[in-house]
Amino acid sequence: MNPLQPPAPAQRLRQMHNQLAAAYGPQYWWPAQTPFEVILGAYLTQNTAWKAVERSLANLRVAGALSLDGLRALSLDHLRRLIQPSGFSTRKAPALKAFVAMLDGEFAGSLQALAAAPTPTLRRRLLALPGVGPETADAILLYALGHPVPVADEYLRRIADRHQLLAPLPASKRYDALADLTRKAFASDPAPLQAALFNEFHALTVAVGKAHCGRTARCEGCPLHADLQHTKLPPPADRVRTQHGEAESRQLEAASSHLHPSRRNLVKP
Ligand code: SF4
Repeated sequence: MNPLQPPAPAQRLRQMHNQLAAAYGPQYWWPAQTPFEVILGAYLTQNTAWKAVERSLANLRVAGALSLDGLRALSLDHLRRLIQPSGFSTRKAPALKAFVAMLDGEFAGSLQALAAAPTPTLRRRLLALPGVGPETADAILLYALGHPVPVADEYLRRIADRHQLLAPLPASKRYDALADLTRKAFASDPAPLQAALFNEFHALTVAVGKAHCGRTARCEGCPLHADLQHTKLPPPADRVRTQHGEAESRQLEAASSHLHPSRRNLVKP
């Protein structure tokens, strides 16, 4: 590398992983929750704070519906009422039923069979389901099914924007660009480690987002502060207090809440 040239964005992102890992240590995002609970959480957390999701999950637990069999046994209307705390229940209830119908119809009702499908096929199939966008699909692939895909959530987008890791893009292209950049960042790591690295990197970006890079950037003392030397603008704290930024940050809290620490230690199917 030419010492006069700044490192490439993917290289910087990989260094950010190291800086965050050194600052925060292992995040242990792998608790004793079932893959199906992870899938439920990935659907329910869309546009919703995690606290509200917890209330829906508690309702499902009481109703004995925190399992595939439990969900199959619920009527659509009953499911809708149980998940009302996490909002958009008239959309999320049929979406969950559609996931189970796909699992039953195409994978003999088995999450293990689903997880065994090739990643690109599986991702396409998930994205074709109602109520599943790229972030939900990737969260299910990585955290419930153990596939090595990055999850490019709003926290990561905010870091990438503030550190100018990507050229400005239309909103419709941002997710894929950020996911590609993350894949490039870890491309030199051994393939068998990539799922764990994507898992950990996501957990670490959420940790720094909560501690420093939230609604307003608090760069002082942030483990990623040194990387700002590669940006061309002044430190970002002064340029995020906009009405738009406020709205984004509320979405951010909701969009990343499937990665709330309470969701750690997911168990592979
Ligand atoms: S708080 Fe500042 S240094 Fe930290 S990640 Fe955000 S923009 Fe970067």
